[in-house]
Amino acid sequence: MNTIELQVSPAQSADFNFLEEKIQFTLSLSPLSFKWRIDKKSIDARKRNAIVILRISVIGANEEFPAVHQRQFQHEIKGSAIVIGAGPAGLFAALRLLELGVKPIILERGKDVRARRRDLVEITRNGIVNEDSNYCFGEGGAGTYSDGKLYTRSTKKGSVVRILETLVQFGANENILTESHPHVGTNKLPQIIANMRESILANGGEIHFEERVVDFHVGMDSIHEVKTAKGNSFQADSILLATGHSARDIFELLHAKKIALEAKPFAVGVRIEHDQRTIDKLQYKCDDRGEFLPPASYSIVTQVNDHGVYSFCMCPGGIVAPCATSQEEIVTNGWSPSKRNNPWANSGIVVEVKLSDLENLHYSGPLAGMHLQRDIEKKAYELGGKNQFAPAQRATDFIYNKKSTTLPDSSYSPGITSTNLRDLFPKFISECLIGALQHFNTKMPNFAGPNALLLAPETRTSSPVRIPRDKELLNHPEIKNLFPCGEGAGYAGGIVSAAIDGERCADAISEFISKKKNQ
Ligand SMILES: Cc1cc2nc3c(=O)[nH]c(=O)nc-3n(C[C@H](O)[C@H](O)[C@H](O)COP(=O)(O)OP(=O)(O)OC[C@H]3O[C@@H](n4cnc5c(N)ncnc54)[C@H](O)[C@@H]3O)c2cc1C
Repeated sequence: MNTIELQVSPAQSADFNFLEEKIQFTLSLSPLSFKWRIDKKSIDARKRNAIVILRISVIGANEEFPAVHQRQFQHEIKGSAIVIGAGPAGLFAALRLLELGVKPIILERGKDVRARRRDLVEITRNGIVNEDSNYCFGEGGAGTYSDGKLYTRSTKKGSVVRILETLVQFGANENILTESHPHVGTNKLPQIIANMRESILANGGEIHFEERVVDFHVGMDSIHEVKTAKGNSFQADSILLATGHSARDIFELLHAKKIALEAKPFAVGVRIEHDQRTIDKLQYKCDDRGEFLPPASYSIVTQVNDHGVYSFCMCPGGIVAPCATSQEEIVTNGWSPSKRNNPWANSGIVVEVKLSDLENLHYSGPLAGMHLQRDIEKKAYELGGKNQFAPAQRATDFIYNKKSTTLPDSSYSPGITSTNLRDLFPKFISECLIGALQHFNTKMPNFAGPNALLLAPETRTSSPVRIPRDKELLNHPEIKNLFPCGEGAGYAGGIVSAAIDGERCADAISEFISKKKNQ
């Protein structure tokens, strides 16, 4: 196999006849004597004319490229595990458990993807939040109606490839295996999640929707029984807890049962929304990006007053989403469809919240960060007008400390209320945001201009709590059959890293069960 790199214009990158001739010429091959495929595609937009960089593999016409790996499931079952939460961590754990001969029993508080969609419409149209079925809760977790960006800071290349290949096995486009910034899109994710569910059921797993876990029966050093709000109880050899960063009732339950938890740094801020053309102009340095370049994105970071301030979950061609999990709170986040063809660009701009900040604000104990998050979200609900309207302000008005007299159009469909956002945040957060917006505006003119809209608050960036676990065995130090997993437990941030952590915990559970059986 030969690998070559080509640097071409955006239009040439979409012209497969042109690329084939170029490969033929570069490698001095005769026509029809070879097959080729793109292994990696990235865009370099540092100069005025953006170029596309392609890494291409070439093989002989009679050879075959290796097929995308398909998961194979064992049918001899050696034990069982209760998986609490059907987000990326829980679902990938369940698939891996089936590969290892452990039966997963998934308990999910929300509904299946199809029924869940109706509850999302209720939030966006009528401002009514179902506390068990929303943008964070339900089949597929926060990942289902997320933006579906699949890039990760994880350096475990083999694990990342396995997660992406699994998504392809269940219906994602194969281009996620080659794009440098793979993205599925909110419209495509629900079917992929439904296909995963069918596979889990067909291979011996169980899934119970609308089963919110409300209690554990804890013995000497293990959980014997898991109880749900409907009064049902479930038992298994081990428990994988993957309830995500918004399951505050689970953090409270663990704390009430004196199961060790720790406060963890996280980040809080705003979602900034621009006309997508403003971002295209800034990033591609041209008036019109044309038909071959994707809507531009950005990733920015700075330090203000010894705090990191950074862009988070940037969604080109996207929508700002109402992501509250209780009626009397406001939470923003963002998503985009696979075509990224909405007229807006949005991103979180968030400030690091350290444990010392929590102390300075007189929040204490392992749930300190969660209480700060909740207080900001509740205040936003009051300031927004006691519905799902988000407090909003023009970026320049926020910087100059004045309430906006008018607001630009926004994609956030429940509605927005003009508010001085300095009334919402603790002073240190406002000051860091102001310093960062001024800095970003010098790097990207008009980034914080009058047409940039700030919506608030962006609070669910990562978990404010960590559930401790053994570094090697991955179980809780006191409750030996409990495996805290994914973003909520503090071991992941994003779809791919949550999925990787789900698989790691499934491996650990399989070993735990094997050891127990051999004792
Ligand atoms: C709008 C939006 C856009 C996003 N965009 C991206 C993106 O582009 N790329 C990216 O990588 N990440 C994105 N994320 C973040 C990503 O979705 C999460 O990082 C990821 O889903 C975390 O996976 P998880 O399995 O650890 O937890 P979650 O996905 O939060 O899943 C937890 C599950 O547990 C269930 N649960 C909670 N409590 C209970 C209980 N008591 N009993 C039973 N079940 C319970 C919940 O209903 C949920 O299904 C986005 C999130 C949102 C909200």
